[in-house]
Amino acid sequence: MSDEVHLDSNVPGNPAYHFTIVPAGAPARAGWARRAPLVAGAGLATRCVHAGVQPDPAYGAVMPPIYQSSTFAFRDVCTNAGYDYTRSGNPTRAALEEAIAALEGGGGATCTSTGMSAVLVALNLLPHRSHLLATVDCYGGTFRALEHARAAYGLEVTYLDLADLAAVERALRPGTGMVWIETPSNPLLRLTDVRAVAALARARGALTAVDNTFLSPVLQRPFELGADLVVHSTTKYLNGHSDVVGGAVVAAPGRTALLQRIQSTNNLLGTSQSPHDAFLVLRGLKTLLLRMKAHEAGAAAVAAWLERHPAVARVHYPGLASHPQHELALRQQQGFGGMLSFELVDGRPARVDHVLRTLRWFTLAESLGGVESLVAHPASMTHASMTPEARRRAGITDSVIRLSIGIEDPADLIADLDETLAGLPA
Ligand SMILES: *Cc1c(COP(=O)(O)O)cnc(C)c1O
Repeated sequence: MSDEVHLDSNVPGNPAYHFTIVPAGAPARAGWARRAPLVAGAGLATRCVHAGVQPDPAYGAVMPPIYQSSTFAFRDVCTNAGYDYTRSGNPTRAALEEAIAALEGGGGATCTSTGMSAVLVALNLLPHRSHLLATVDCYGGTFRALEHARAAYGLEVTYLDLADLAAVERALRPGTGMVWIETPSNPLLRLTDVRAVAALARARGALTAVDNTFLSPVLQRPFELGADLVVHSTTKYLNGHSDVVGGAVVAAPGRTALLQRIQSTNNLLGTSQSPHDAFLVLRGLKTLLLRMKAHEAGAAAVAAWLERHPAVARVHYPGLASHPQHELALRQQQGFGGMLSFELVDGRPARVDHVLRTLRWFTLAESLGGVESLVAHPASMTHASMTPEARRRAGITDSVIRLSIGIEDPADLIADLDETLAGLPA
């Protein structure tokens, strides 16, 4: 066993044994006829394609094989190839984790079975009875998870409008362990100044977690703004093809202890992502940059068109000059994204229902970020689990209609909306 690499001479808890990791199937002359790519210095499009991916050491497969195995053979007592059990680690999932960390500019990532389990991994970093500040219009599932943690584990939660920096400063206290940011928020596309809130949190010893699902690292990179953790529902844009659920938690660069904690928490909760699902997300990532550009071009066209329509009272889209935080969007985002919502001048239920039932290219469905356009009614769908009072406080009226703009021709989407709004019942 001349190719053994001695990485660790101690078996934790049993110094009588030492542990050895042998690279899987390492060829005599390591590598393939290509120099190692310099992913860290590469542009975003290059990173989308190459991050986390090298020719497989066994046969040179250009895409990582789906290591669909629950367990991994030991080469000898205390000697393995770096993996022992798929809940704890899997080569296919590791490729995706490396790719997402590289796109976010983070120090490392852990991939989870769903976006919600990514939220749970992040929340489980908090000690018993900590205090958390969350944006008042956070994702419905996150709200439910926070309310559960409040009831079951004594987590204290303050919901507030994070745009109000004075209120954030007042609400931070010695026991505050984390500030939870979602920007843009769902479904009203309100923005949080990540740099300002993260600075306040850091001064008080609290972690800042940013749910970056709505923009993806193509359009917003929270670590550059001072965040400690980035959370994703990879179900949405990162995968982009509406065929998998998944999540990720990313630690800021240089934060080795924090990275180890998210990895071990994912392992202990048993929330790690299956190799097959990880493979699908990795495949989706290749086209992330191209897709985000198409989503955004479509959303910008639809938002501008809706804003001029006489039946439409308000359009919520950070790319519009009329968005109250348009300046902040220009400053902290690399683009405006593919999500928007709007409200009718006369938003009686029969008229909202007409829109939801009449559209052709927009499927009435929850979720977002896929190549196909979707329409959703937050009050009866994504945000139905909030109390009416919480919805009212968050400004989510029954007439808000949310659109996830796919990558179809914007002209087709606009024609569909035109025909639908023309047929609104009196
Ligand atoms: C969808 C979503 C989640 C939850 O992700 P799942 O993959 O559905 O579990 C969390 N945050 C945001 C912003 C989301 O859109």
